[in-house]
Amino acid sequence: EPLDLTKFCIELIEDLQFSHSQHYTITAEYEGDCSIVEMDAALLWHILTNLLSNAIKYSPPKSKIQFSLCCQADTATFRVQDHGIGIPLKDQSHLFETFYRCSNVGKVQGTGLGLAIAKKCVDLHRGDIQVTSELGKGAVFAVALPMRPAYSQ
Ligand code: ATP
Ligand code: MG
Repeated sequence: EPLDLTKFCIELIEDLQFSHSQHYTITAEYEGDCSIVEMDAALLWHILTNLLSNAIKYSPPKSKIQFSLCCQADTATFRVQDHGIGIPLKDQSHLFETFYRCSNVGKVQGTGLGLAIAKKCVDLHRGDIQVTSELGKGAVFAVALPMRPAYSQ
């Protein structure tokens, strides 16, 4: 079923922003034609909700969270950037394992499942997820997904 990806993202961000009672500002940028894609909305929801809620959870209140979506050449690239605690280099290769939590989470609660679920959804979509981070300065998660995927089993 065709999906308007821009509309989907705008609504998802609005919902998140609302449920976190305006303590955060999520800015969003859209580039390219993302109006008709053939992606699975449930998989997308898991991916984006996990990345954005992590950005909120691991950043100080009032800090800026930047979202962008770029659609070109049959690939949709999502980027979620925060200015929070960041991810230690030694933890970066384990982030997507189930129940893995980094050494610098302090008192922030979590199960360590969100990114494992996001990664699984990206794989089902035959896409790619990458992280870059500087400790104490924030993290950037980038997800590239084919706009017309042949779903894997
Ligand atoms: P939950 O299952 O509720 O999402 P969680 O947030 O701890 O729990 P994941 O979302 O899988 O689990 O993330 C795994 C770990 O990666 C986190 O515990 C945290 O240490 C680190 N992490 C994830 N996103 C960020 C981020 N944006 N900034 C800093 N650390 C992060
Ligand atoms: Mg999480």
